[in-house]
Amino acid sequence: MNYAIATLGSHSALQILRGAKDEGFRTIAVCRGDHAFIYKHFGVADEVIEIESYSDFPAVEDALLERNAILIPHASLIAYVDLKAIERMKVPYYGNRKILFWESDREKQRIWLEKAGLNLPKVFKDPSEIDGLAIVKFPGARGGQGYFLVRNEREFKRKIGDIKEYVIQEYVVGIPVYIHYFYSVIRNELELMGFDRRYESNVDGIGRIPSRFQRDIKVTYTIVGNFPLMLRESLLPEAFRMGERVIKASREICSPGIYGPFCLETIVTPDLKFYVFEISARIVAGTNVFMETSPYALIKHGKPMSTGRRIALEIREAIEQGRLKEILG
Ligand code: AMP
Ligand code: AMP
Repeated sequence: MNYAIATLGSHSALQILRGAKDEGFRTIAVCRGDHAFIYKHFGVADEVIEIESYSDFPAVEDALLERNAILIPHASLIAYVDLKAIERMKVPYYGNRKILFWESDREKQRIWLEKAGLNLPKVFKDPSEIDGLAIVKFPGARGGQGYFLVRNEREFKRKIGDIKEYVIQEYVVGIPVYIHYFYSVIRNELELMGFDRRYESNVDGIGRIPSRFQRDIKVTYTIVGNFPLMLRESLLPEAFRMGERVIKASREICSPGIYGPFCLETIVTPDLKFYVFEISARIVAGTNVFMETSPYALIKHGKPMSTGRRIALEIREAIEQGRLKEILG
């Protein structure tokens, strides 16, 4: 095949590039100089293009065009490269570029998820409305950094300092379940790729110290890693339905809608309800726990299939059927 698969070297790049090689593509990692050795070490990139800082990413446009590359987005691309710059780049891009503006804006996310009829945690528009445990969040894909919990307006005012941009959400007590989906345009089918849970610092370390010391710790939610998870099987139909509703709603808000990998970030309560607190409109790093395959993807495809490889398979089938345009946005 005359195409290469390219991505930014971080987040889920090992998975994306390895999956692309498994499907017969040439691969390119665009990396910060100090990260390049990882992509060389693991041998997943046929070529490594080094940049000094993430903000230089748009400057590799010509190099990627010359190499007939298709760019695969992930959270690091979105977190570190200006969305407008990504939108302007002429490099073919896998996915609906415009949907990133819906993902990166919490208000828009909420409109989308409400339109899909999902069960969402309450949002307190004003601190005076806080009537129970609430989580305070900040914009962008910053991986939970600096988030904190409050119970009332007084506590909120004490902790917020001079930060101006935030969202106050009802804190749902339950267990976090991150649902990995893949919607194939070529096969016109939604696939459930797997589930993970996150390992966050320092909240997941709090249980390791006696309760009398816990009170003094300022809890926060910085993502450090992920664990694989198998969901109770009777919850699978609801997980599927939620994904289908998100796709349907996305077609109304941002034509042609969402396709490829995406993730619903949920908390499941003891009455087995999913509360969706966020959507990621592209591959999530939690899929890295299934870098070879998840059990679901294995039984669906009859062979190991990571989300990274699934992306490459979709692109390969699109090329073979002369339908590549349908999946580039
Ligand atoms: P990084 O390139 O590791 O700095 O990641 C960029 C952004 O991607 C972070 O701010 C996180 O929001 C997200 N991210 C990175 N790794 C993970 C992970 N293992 N699980 C969930 N989110 C992640
Ligand atoms: P986010 O940046 O929205 O993915 O959130 C980071 C982490 O905060 C999640 O992995 C959860 O552990 C936690 N979290 C976020 N929103 C809620 C919520 N509404 N209720 C409970 N926990 C939450």
